[in-house]
Order: sequence, then C-alpha cells, then structure tokens
Amino acid sequence: MADNGKILEIIRAVSQTIEAHKDYLTELDQPIGDSDHGINMARGFEAVDAKLASMADKDVGTIFKNVGMTLVSTVGGASGPLYGTAFMRAGMAVPGKMTIDMNDFLKMLEAAIEGVKARGHADVGAATMLDAMVPSLDAAKTAAGEGKSSGEALDACVDASWKGAESTKPMVATKGRASYVGERGIGHQDPGATSYSYIMEAVRDTFKGKD
Ligand code: ADP
Ligand code: MG
Repeated sequence: MADNGKILEIIRAVSQTIEAHKDYLTELDQPIGDSDHGINMARGFEAVDAKLASMADKDVGTIFKNVGMTLVSTVGGASGPLYGTAFMRAGMAVPGKMTIDMNDFLKMLEAAIEGVKARGHADVGAATMLDAMVPSLDAAKTAAGEGKSSGEALDACVDASWKGAESTKPMVATKGRASYVGERGIGHQDPGATSYSYIMEAVRDTFKGKD
C-alpha cells in the first residue's frame, strides 16, 4: 500500500491541507470554543513539516511516533495531546515497518482511536473528533472485508468521516471546551471532527496520487 517515502509524502500533504483550511477550522471553533483549532493545528503541522526531511530513512512506526511527539509539544489546546496520542499510538502499531498494507492501516487507525478514547475519556456521541474517526474506521474495515481495493476502502473511510463530522451538528457536546456552551452548541460542526476529515482526505488523495 505505502512505503516510508509515500508516508512522508502523505504527511506533507496533511500539513498542507491543515494550513489551507486553517481559517475555516478556526471559524468552526468560534461559536463552541475559543477560536483556535485551525491556529493550533497549523502550528503543529508546520513543526511536523519542518522535521520530515530528517525522517527520510526512518520506518513508518518511527515516523508516526515522531509526528505525534511533535504535535504534543507544539499544538497546545486539547487537540495537541489528542492528535499527538493518535499518531504515537498509530506508530506503535507498526514497529519497524518500512512498508504498510491495508491491514496495517486499519490497525493503526484502531490504535489511534483507542488512544484518543483513553486520553480524552470520550467515545462517539460526545461531539468530538471520535465521531468522525470511529465511523471512518468501521467503513474502511467493511470495505476491506468485502475485498475492495485500498483506494476504495480509503474512499469509504473519507466519506464516512465527513458524514461523521456532519453528525456532530445536532449533538450537545459533553467533552472538551465545547461542553461549556451546552445546548448553544447545537447546529455547529465539531472542529476536531472536521480537521480529522481533512486529514483523511489528504491521506486518500495522496495515496491515489492526486494533487
Ligand atoms: P481547545 O478545545 O483546547 O481549544 P482545540 O480547539 O485545538 O483545543 O481542539 C478542539 C477539538 O478537540 C474539539 O473540536 C474536539 O474534536 C477535540 N476534543 C476536545 N476534547 C476532547 C475529548 N475529551 N476527546 C476527544 N476529542 C476532544
Ligand atoms: Mg479551541
């Protein structure tokens, strides 16, 4: 599916998509939070991007662990430790691997989700990034289980992720800063579920070789 060079290309694309959607992600964080999600994420991924060149000969597990540690130390906000944990756990799922296949990808995403759940004491239905992450994994697993190609499984993953992000609109957030606004948060899409969907979209597009 992808070797370590492709993984670096994918992470570079993720940094670019976060930068490109920085203002929108920050806007989403305005009514339910403190207007910093895009700023936080862009700061983190700029630091990640600056380190990618030094990771050229590293295995996929090490690359993800380095990305996670960089995010923890630079993002700030709730999303720093959460995304940081997600990337670190994903890396720990593929120790020493120079190439990953669809099965590894599913294991990485599963480990990332378990990490976010444990770190944030949250699950689906709390209007967080988990509402995009969990259905995206389920959809990718189902597609792979039906014998679909990696590209098709990633398409299913991205579609389910955006649907999951949408699903946060009618929810009352019970975790993180958004829980402070209670019912006033109804109608607003969760910023973290949205950044996650952009990330998955960049993963899929780069995997498929789209610009
Ligand atoms: P902060 O809330 O500290 O300002 P950000 O604005 O960068 O941090 O990130 C907010 C996002 O973090 C939310 O949109 C949500 O997706 C995610 N989040 C917050 N708390 C939790 C949690 N306990 N579990 C999972 N995700 C969370
Ligand atoms: Mg915020």
